Amino acid sequence: MESWGEAAFRGRQLFKWLWTPGFASLDEVTDLPKTLRARLALEGYVYNLETVSVVASKLDDTCKWAFRLEDGSVIETVLIPGDSHATLCVSSQVGCAMGCRFCKTGSMGFVRNLSPSEIAGQVLSVIEQLGSEQRPRNLVFMGMGEPLANFENVVASIRILSSELGLNYSKRRITVSTSGIAPKIVELGNEIDVGLAISLHATTNSLRDRLMPINRRYPLEVLMDACRRFKLPRRRRITFEYIVLKGLNHSREDANRLARLLDGIPSKINLIPYNYVEGLEFQAPSEREVLDFQKLLIDKGFTAIIRKSRGRDIEAACGQLWSKVIRDEARVKGSTSG
Ligand code: SF4
Repeated sequence: MESWGEAAFRGRQLFKWLWTPGFASLDEVTDLPKTLRARLALEGYVYNLETVSVVASKLDDTCKWAFRLEDGSVIETVLIPGDSHATLCVSSQVGCAMGCRFCKTGSMGFVRNLSPSEIAGQVLSVIEQLGSEQRPRNLVFMGMGEPLANFENVVASIRILSSELGLNYSKRRITVSTSGIAPKIVELGNEIDVGLAISLHATTNSLRDRLMPINRRYPLEVLMDACRRFKLPRRRRITFEYIVLKGLNHSREDANRLARLLDGIPSKINLIPYNYVEGLEFQAPSEREVLDFQKLLIDKGFTAIIRKSRGRDIEAACGQLWSKVIRDEARVKGSTSG
């Protein structure tokens, strides 16, 4: 607004409208002068994410949205209900360059970064569809993409989401998850007061190198050093996500190594039994194996929680819905063109 010669407060007025659930047209901005509204209508427009599909799991209440962006790219957003509150998992990139071996998005490669409004827009669209009274309480950057590889836009989207004029989320309710871009972890803590989750998944560099190529650049020692230097908000802990892969990472030695790695870091461990994905090489562990590993960690004094693999019937693992939409569209195109 200032670059248009308008007072700064006009920008705040417009911002508030843009992030009001249900806002659809610049004609609705009735508290701006007519001339300004006319210019806005001429030079701008309101873009809402287009919902391609909403799929609800029949096994649990997980719900997944596929959104199409203006350039035709499709991203996914997943709502994970809890006992008293829901968590929304948002995407930060179209595709991902990190190439984690257990992840479908990783196998698709990187397309582009999402803009701040495309990231925050996922939350707005879901709130619009659920109604404000059912808005998700927690937000996690754990969908498609590596958030710290899109650092500026992710930070900007958090500022929108947490703004009193925007969706007014407490930063305590926002967690950024990373595969381990060590220098950016420290930068994130210095920049903004949010929670941090690390996709750890292995206790040796040799296995982590194999699972997550980022580990060759920032091996476990460097990653843990960054976690120790992360400015953790008061009374918060770093969440370590640990996918339990049958026969690979849940031995007694793994528990010992994990304890050494996390020594001195306020932490909690989420154990996620691997959800079998067609076409990938890993196997799901038995319930017993996961429970045994959890016990080893609890005996060492850790908080270790088993997180169920959600939405198995709706392809809920990272990036899978996206691949399904793309596959389906390819099929439709193939059948119409051929
Ligand atoms: S797990 Fe996350 S960081 Fe790794 S490839 Fe998948 S989307 Fe990217």
